[in-house]
Amino acid sequence: MTEIITLITGLPDEQEAGYLAALAAAMPAETIVALRKASADELARSTIAIVARPDPAALAVLPRLAWIQSLWAGVEQLVASLPPDGTPVVRLVDPELSRTMAEAVLAWTYYLQRDMPAYRLQQQARVWTQQIYRKPADTTVGIVGLGTLGGRAANRLIDAGFRVSGWSRTPKTLAGVCARHGTDGLVRMLGESDIVVCLVPLTADTRRLVDRQAFAAMKRGAALINFSRGPVVAAQDLLQALDDGQLSHAVLDVFDIEPLPGDSPFWQHPAVTVLPHISAPTDIHTAASVIATNVATYRATGRIPDSIDFSRGY
Ligand code: NAP
Repeated sequence: MTEIITLITGLPDEQEAGYLAALAAAMPAETIVALRKASADELARSTIAIVARPDPAALAVLPRLAWIQSLWAGVEQLVASLPPDGTPVVRLVDPELSRTMAEAVLAWTYYLQRDMPAYRLQQQARVWTQQIYRKPADTTVGIVGLGTLGGRAANRLIDAGFRVSGWSRTPKTLAGVCARHGTDGLVRMLGESDIVVCLVPLTADTRRLVDRQAFAAMKRGAALINFSRGPVVAAQDLLQALDDGQLSHAVLDVFDIEPLPGDSPFWQHPAVTVLPHISAPTDIHTAASVIATNVATYRATGRIPDSIDFSRGY
């Protein structure tokens, strides 16, 4: 029985069709069907599912499923909805995604380091004041999460002349980065950073990781960039820290509820920049190429690509 691939998404039809076309172009020898249009015979022959925000029940209709390939780097929804001892889940690790995220981290770090939020407010009030220039070499950026994306962002910041600290679950050595781990390590890293960038996955351990205590550990007037997931930052505690002046500004790309509801205080807050989850969108063409390599390796060797650890949650 020829094995096939099923694409399962919760995305609008047009977007799913775009994903299907890119995947088919990257894997011309494979048969890839969208779950929405798959026959019972095709479902019975599916050994790989490629997913983006899937209905977890949909995965249960594939009796021969060997592994699940996520189209996204963040897999918290899959971790929350699938049995921990079930089918392996492979997340997207795409160098283009890392490049895009590193570019976003550098761009919004410059936005803060060059005081653009202050100049925006000054222009609205017709105020002509020159803020004191702060060099990259005098600015420490602390990255919470030194994995695939955080590590690449750290390198990009170092190349641009910033001082970089980082924090991860396990000890790490990265050239030019003051890398810390453990609870004490987080407090020290927060205390030395002018700009804190969140790039940890959302797990049971990182939910509300950046809370009132974390803000209190930061330098007064430090800024926050959250590019990971909304619930990593405690929203009410963040608003309090901004209102108190403990934090000078927050650049938020991710939120507890997306799209951000119209009545969220973040929209109007003068010390908040709201972005609509755009820091590192999946590039479907490079993602399809990465996935094609994973599938080809599996077909040739039977080896399932490295999968996530459900007990860690990432
Ligand atoms: P990754 O390679 O798995 O790296 C995760 C990093 O976080 C690792 O350094 C890990 O530590 C650290 N970490 C995890 N749990 C921790 C904990 N409890 N305490 C301390 N450190 C912890 O993931 P990635 O590919 O870099 O992606 C990170 C996240 O970025 C994704 O999960 C997703 O939520 C987010 N993302 C956002 C966008 C966007 O557009 N906004 C796009 C893509 C991804 P170890 O190194 O010790 O394992």
